[in-house]
Amino acid sequence: MPNTQYDAQMDKHVGGLIRIIPDFPKPGIIFKDITPLLADSKALDDCCQMIATYATDADYIAGIEARGFILAAAVAVISGKGFIPIRKSGKLPGKVISQSYDLEYGKATLEVHADLIAAGKRVLIVDDVLATGGTALAAIDLIEKAGLIPSAIAFLLEIAPLGGRSRIKTARPGLQIQTILAE
Ligand code: AMP
Repeated sequence: MPNTQYDAQMDKHVGGLIRIIPDFPKPGIIFKDITPLLADSKALDDCCQMIATYATDADYIAGIEARGFILAAAVAVISGKGFIPIRKSGKLPGKVISQSYDLEYGKATLEVHADLIAAGKRVLIVDDVLATGGTALAAIDLIEKAGLIPSAIAFLLEIAPLGGRSRIKTARPGLQIQTILAE
């Protein structure tokens, strides 16, 4: 179901630009490819403008590597706020704060630069897809570890059957979860 703030016509247009790639990157995964949407200037603009409406009470926009960067950086420019990269481990050159989380097989780690942003600032976290919610929860934990306050978390697409929203809600009942498209 589309977000209630979301115009149904826009939903149809934008939703049709998500390409389904079965068995990528491995068998059993139904990959949601957002590159057709990114290539459509109006859809990209509409989505980033919509996410920017969730940034009014944020001081910064954080994007989760890699596809979250694309949206978050555009939202940061639209809303006149700075951008914070949440990167996979080993990519940031300075002193970092890390947060590990479980994947289906093994573990992954997200990092932000320590001491880059003054403690207490509010951060809108942005990613492309909400699936099980593990990545999002790690990003929320990471932002908090850095002394910052997650103001909300926003996604282009929610794969609702995978339960990410309820997982985030259980862990952070007060946090607003915004999605542009859901299936
Ligand atoms: P999760 O931690 O399970 O919520 O997965 C979310 C992260 O993995 C996001 O950064 C997505 O880019 C990526 N992701 C997970 N599942 C998919 C999928 N089916 N299609 C595209 N990206 C996905």
